[in-house]
Amino acid sequence: MENRNPYENMLSVLNETCTMMGKKESEYVFLKYPEREVKVSVPVEMDDGEIRVFEGYRVQHNSARGPYKGGLRFHPNTDLNEVKALAAWMSFKCAVADIPFGGSKGGITVDPTKLSKRELERLTRNFTERIAPVIGPEKDIPAPDVNTNSEIMGWIMDTYSRLAGSPRPGVVTGKPIEIGGSLGRTAATAAGVCMIAHKAIAYVGLDKEENRFAVQGLGNVGGLTAQILYDGGHRVICVSDVNGCVYNEKGLNITEIRAFLANGGKLNEYKAEGVQQLAREAVLTIDCDVLIPCALENQITVENADKIRAKIIVEGANGPTTYEADKILASHGIPVIPDILANCGGVVVSYFEWVQDLQNFYWSEKEVNDRLTEKMSAAFHAVVDMKEKYGTTFRKGAYAVAINRIIVAENMRKSWH
Ligand code: NAD
Repeated sequence: MENRNPYENMLSVLNETCTMMGKKESEYVFLKYPEREVKVSVPVEMDDGEIRVFEGYRVQHNSARGPYKGGLRFHPNTDLNEVKALAAWMSFKCAVADIPFGGSKGGITVDPTKLSKRELERLTRNFTERIAPVIGPEKDIPAPDVNTNSEIMGWIMDTYSRLAGSPRPGVVTGKPIEIGGSLGRTAATAAGVCMIAHKAIAYVGLDKEENRFAVQGLGNVGGLTAQILYDGGHRVICVSDVNGCVYNEKGLNITEIRAFLANGGKLNEYKAEGVQQLAREAVLTIDCDVLIPCALENQITVENADKIRAKIIVEGANGPTTYEADKILASHGIPVIPDILANCGGVVVSYFEWVQDLQNFYWSEKEVNDRLTEKMSAAFHAVVDMKEKYGTTFRKGAYAVAINRIIVAENMRKSWH
């Protein structure tokens, strides 16, 4: 049976990459364990007066390169192993992007679609109080992730600021612009995914003809990735979300689909000329050139890896490909551009937001996007250098960049002495 524990999958890639680089276990063993795991119980008064208690987590993986940084997700399947893996990937991602942060992640086990807005706000604020001792602008800075958004970040910022006694916009990123958010943050992850996708397509020589794109997930990352591709004149032939999957070989109208969803429509009810409804998972195995999974982890597994027809995969989501599936894709010669490179644009602009908050000096959208382009380009080239040096996959190339950078910082600080 395939191992779907994302933390163990992360450890397998870590071990393999370190062996490839000739590292002794004692040089990297600290990366196998999060520095801190916090589990909290969060009581919430529901609208009917009933009290329910939710479980929440904040895992801080490594801080050698700077304060911890990582998103917060609300999902019914969120558990400690998922949050631990996501925290470790954040350490690696910040190192690949070469920004001065370590890695962390948070989560609450909850289906937010079952809560009213007031219940969601009480849950967010009570969770923030519970984790307040371990977060802060110099300690650990949350951001949006699955089912969390700028409004929720605003509630976190406000709750933390009330506890601190003065406004602390730097405690969280992905906030509304009016209370210290950065221009360009909402689209940053997707913009970065598209930049890396185009670079990777050119690198592997797939830029000779018009490419057909398929995108799984239509949230912050997937929806905006599909939109940026569509706006750029690219053919997006298949998209899916939690409710369904639609396909049109001639290309979908992404603007129309996103407007339909924003107005409360369900993807499985979307109708347009030439559009076919498919089973939700069909997006992964559709005949396309570029597959961009942007939903959740463990989507490409031993069960479907053999059936994938894309010529290249760009991971917009964190951990969408299992360790075993990765090996199958490699054996078929399908390059996989890993999450820690492909989706690092979000944390790069989160870093810019944090810098602006600490300085109380805000940048234009052009400045943000120019600096993002520079960072994404540098990250891509650093990964390609390692990939070529070791004759390995993009994933192990990216891990190699990250592991080397973290080990250098850890050795300079010698936190275990
Ligand atoms: P989101 O909540 O905005 O969107 C998630 C999307 O996935 C929704 O459209 C949902 O319908 C869809 N989905 C859920 N289950 C699905 C399934 N089984 N099949 C198809 N679609 C499904 O979340 P997001 O912020 O876009 O995050 C998506 C992924 O990107 C996650 O892995 C997250 O960790 C990662 N990520 C997000 C950011 C960010 O800035 N938001 C940054 C880096 C990585």
